[in-house]
Amino acid sequence: MANVVIIGAGGVGHVVAHKCAQVPEVFEQITLASRTLSKCETIAAGVRDRTGREIAVRRVDADRVAELTALFREIKPDLVINVALPYQDLTIMDACLETGVHYLDTANYEPPDTARFEYSWQWAYRDKFEQAGLMALLGSGFDPGVTNVFTSWIAKHALDDLHTLDIVDVNGGDHGRPFATNFNPEINIREVTAPCRHWEDGAFRETPAMSRNTRFYCPESVGEYSIYRMYHEELESLVTYYPSLRRAQFWMSFSENYLKHLEVLQNVGMTRIDPVTYQGVEIIPLQFLKAVLPEPSSLGEDTRGKTCIGVIAGGTSDGEPKTVYVYNICDHQDAYRELGSQAISYTTGVPAMIGAQMMLRGEWMKPGVWNMEQFDPDPFMDALNRHGLPWTVQDPATVSVP
Ligand code: NDP
Repeated sequence: MANVVIIGAGGVGHVVAHKCAQVPEVFEQITLASRTLSKCETIAAGVRDRTGREIAVRRVDADRVAELTALFREIKPDLVINVALPYQDLTIMDACLETGVHYLDTANYEPPDTARFEYSWQWAYRDKFEQAGLMALLGSGFDPGVTNVFTSWIAKHALDDLHTLDIVDVNGGDHGRPFATNFNPEINIREVTAPCRHWEDGAFRETPAMSRNTRFYCPESVGEYSIYRMYHEELESLVTYYPSLRRAQFWMSFSENYLKHLEVLQNVGMTRIDPVTYQGVEIIPLQFLKAVLPEPSSLGEDTRGKTCIGVIAGGTSDGEPKTVYVYNICDHQDAYRELGSQAISYTTGVPAMIGAQMMLRGEWMKPGVWNMEQFDPDPFMDALNRHGLPWTVQDPATVSVP
């Protein structure tokens, strides 16, 4: 029976709070803390209505280590689930080290002033966590997260050697708004406007953002979508832990409408992350844009359609070439009916709860800083089936990315 603090009362925090509340035998005491207390209170009221459980709420500025350590000393959690923004990863890890608390997140650290996506900053904490006897689990969302676990499941059960990896993230959901993002707009736009990098023949190769696309036919009538190659953080850990990979790529679907709006916003300078002075005040254009776009957590009621996210891995099995596909399909309206959330927050929040459960039950517990593919995938895969994200295997795969 454990005591957890969830940091971040956004779309993902909403799902994590509800999902933890659904598993009282593991999550005995839950505190939701965020920058805006009223958002924590709204989520806590939803948890009370849906599950009958009370969760505690606190205000905290997670950019300040002193505020975090004071909170952790008061609550004495076993584990902190960080679903605030990637900018807060290091301050929360520092506070965990100072107060002796395990750590989990869903996105790697990014410095606010440069859109650089790499694990270097967090991997540099390995010795400190190991010496403190504490564990940090990085990237326990869907992608990164479940995609890493799908890969390790394929490596364990379906292929002897992994040679190629294509992670395909299709969001077939339509929220009916002219332009909105399904998770934090600032983080989303930084990610999709960054140059593309994919792994080929022992090195990351850089190409312009959105310069390569193809059509992808999702299984189970989800539909046919244009997918674009882009960099995504799990590529870095996967090519590190599966050195037999000759090529690894990440693909995401975008509608023409999304891309048209993004192009205009870029052209007029609204996606810039450097400060500009407006009426004597310094503002970051992308942060201003976030303030006028719909909150991702408000899109649930209107979003129709399904997500289809999976891993296509090629390699050998008993000396023969083979390709295997493991995927999950999540219906936006099913997620809304269960938790009042859209599927992107749902598919991120459920694996965050499962990762926390793996740690707290001791199934995945090892001092140090770890990525998801470094643990036995089987108990995590079983938990996905039990907690709302069932998966399917095509062996051999009938889908492909040219
Ligand atoms: P939201 O913007 O909806 O929520 C973020 C929350 O964090 C907000 O409530 C915000 O507070 C809070 N917050 C921000 N800064 C601070 C701070 N300094 N101190 C305390 N709280 C703070 O984002 P999402 O819920 O959509 O995303 C949450 C995280 O999940 C992000 O890191 C995102 O990258 C990650 N993610 C991971 C995915 C995966 O599959 N691995 C997929 C989707 C998202 P306030 O409301 O006051 O601004």
